[in-house]
Amino acid sequence: MRQPLPTSSSPGTSSGEPRPLQQPPHPALRDVVTGEIRRSILSGALAPGTRLVEERLAEELGVSRNPVREALRSLETEGLVAVLPRRGAFVASLSEEEFRELSELRAELEGLSARFAARRVTPEIRARIEALLERGDAAAGADDREGLNTINDEFHGFLADAGCNRFLADFMRSLRDRTHWMYLSSVSWRQIDAWREHAAILRAIADGDEELAAILANRHVGRAVKAFAETVRHRIDGAEPA
Ligand SMILES: [Zn+2]
Repeated sequence: MRQPLPTSSSPGTSSGEPRPLQQPPHPALRDVVTGEIRRSILSGALAPGTRLVEERLAEELGVSRNPVREALRSLETEGLVAVLPRRGAFVASLSEEEFRELSELRAELEGLSARFAARRVTPEIRARIEALLERGDAAAGADDREGLNTINDEFHGFLADAGCNRFLADFMRSLRDRTHWMYLSSVSWRQIDAWREHAAILRAIADGDEELAAILANRHVGRAVKAFAETVRHRIDGAEPA
């Protein structure tokens, strides 16, 4: 595991000496608790709108309330948790307006990532694309939804890497985290379509076709957004999505 970066609440070392191995337990624990709660939110185990009760989380994680409180505060700055005055902490959910704003930004930026990736494609990237295409096509052919889920996730990480722009990649990661549940809820029935769209984007990148890669990636996010809206509508109607 990567060593967490020192934060404002960690006591700083006054000299340039490396930090001692024996770290004060408090900041490290806060980071562990933050990681646990973040994972539960991103996996969908804690759904948007779920109330986050400090006492209960502390009990579940076997820690005191302090690191939980600090974790919730830090997840609030990531946009994953909303703390409402006198009502407590909740897993963040988005208003329709916020959802539209984030989605349209994401669509443009995924397009930009794909454009950069196509512009900078190297033999090494082409080899990674070939490997990803092979695994994805095999999983789609076998109707392996679980496997496709992982590969579809990998695709977005790959796209960010292949764009070779770390600022864009970091920004995309935070945008994806804030809209992750949109993919969780529509994901099982859109898995194969999503893979087909990913595969077309990968081929355009391998061909070095910037325009096509950008258009396909932009349209792909638009489709995911539409699929999500349909899932929500079906759920409200009490029916399962087709
Ligand atoms: Zn996708």
